[in-house]
Amino acid sequence: MSHPQAATEFLKDQAKAKWHDETLWFVRDKRDRISKTIPEWEELRNLASQIKENVLSQLDVYLEEFEQNAQKNGIQVHWAKDAEEHNEIVLSILQKQKCRAIVKSKSILTEECHLNPYLEKNGIEVVDTDLGERIVQFLNQPPSHIVLPAIHLKKGEISELFHEKLHTQKGNEDPTYLTHAARLHLREKFLKAKVAITGVNFAVAETGEFVVCTNEGNADMGVHLADVHIACMGIEKIIPRRKDLGVFLRLLARSATGQPVTNYNSHFRSPSPGKEIHLILVDNGRTAQLAREKFRNSLKCIRCGACMNTCPIYRRSGGYSYGSTVPGPIGSILSPGLDMKKHSTLPFASTLCGSCSDVCPVKINIHEQLYEWRQEITKTHGELGKGLSMKLANGIFKSPLAYKISGNLMRAALKTLPKSLIYHPINSWGKGRNLPETPNESFKDWYQRNRK
Ligand code: SF4
Repeated sequence: MSHPQAATEFLKDQAKAKWHDETLWFVRDKRDRISKTIPEWEELRNLASQIKENVLSQLDVYLEEFEQNAQKNGIQVHWAKDAEEHNEIVLSILQKQKCRAIVKSKSILTEECHLNPYLEKNGIEVVDTDLGERIVQFLNQPPSHIVLPAIHLKKGEISELFHEKLHTQKGNEDPTYLTHAARLHLREKFLKAKVAITGVNFAVAETGEFVVCTNEGNADMGVHLADVHIACMGIEKIIPRRKDLGVFLRLLARSATGQPVTNYNSHFRSPSPGKEIHLILVDNGRTAQLAREKFRNSLKCIRCGACMNTCPIYRRSGGYSYGSTVPGPIGSILSPGLDMKKHSTLPFASTLCGSCSDVCPVKINIHEQLYEWRQEITKTHGELGKGLSMKLANGIFKSPLAYKISGNLMRAALKTLPKSLIYHPINSWGKGRNLPETPNESFKDWYQRNRK
């Protein structure tokens, strides 16, 4: 399904679409309020953007520095060129450990690599331990938002689901009660798992350590109880020095959920005695994006989700309408780089209002990149009808006479044609809009008649 088709489906439930819009706006509003309590907010954003600029300009150097330091710390480092290689590496570690069940904390990268279905196909039980992720896992759905995976579900729906899966009281929608039930259920899974998988928020080149941020402490619980920790990381997650962390951690939680800081920012530097840490560095299209000069800035993304919460299209079309792991404005830049044909409608899922760029903590010029993608896509996957109408409009707009004649013709036609001919099925513009009342004359004629 293209984005417009999927968005149309989402919008069929108008009440839920309105609730989704308002819920995400609430998060955006929290982000605004907390960012205003930091006088140096803009300075932090500039600094974060510059640090990432520096990283992207010598990514190879920082990656090798990180690898060497991580290895010195006793971390086993693996490299994966794509999702397939990443999944094979994870499976080989699990097979070596004779592990049949794992716990996993939130990792967008493993979603991007479709790790869960791959492991399940190979007989491994995967339990997502982030509450939102566990909810969507029960429903066999991917996350609909990178920070708030189950934001599209209301508490009544979760209550029903937990009654079916966890045998909670029917009709009990109390969030505390439901969270406690999930906690007990997950506790059992934590106690049994020999291997825990996490994502990585930041990897520090100078020390070889990495940082995982969660609000629920589920990454820590999984990792500390398991013998083996597998951390999966996109290669763009490098930062040069530990002191840079202060910049990013202050921006991340505030931009993501409007909190002053994420509850757990856990540093992993070396394995405890008798335990193992494996870190998989994954490319999966990132170096190709790095080579695209106009789009390389998108690799600065720290996955805070702020651009989604503010985007009028995301809020009114839902995360699933994007058909990609990372939805919203930043996803609409990243996804066409992975498969331009499949994701050709995404850069058009934007008003180009620039609100995404305004809230981005690392100052990615998101709306400008969306506009760039539109131009690229129009060359190869443009809609024939749109292309022809643009050519026609070009001819009309550059000739005052043609403009006057076509204006007169259209005003006459719109007054006399039946509505069924104006709002016909192929007029997609007219599906959600009504034309204003047609005036009797053009503005130019009116002006010439009325000027003093
Ligand atoms: S593009 Fe910016 S605002 Fe959007 S998720 Fe990434 S860091 Fe956050």
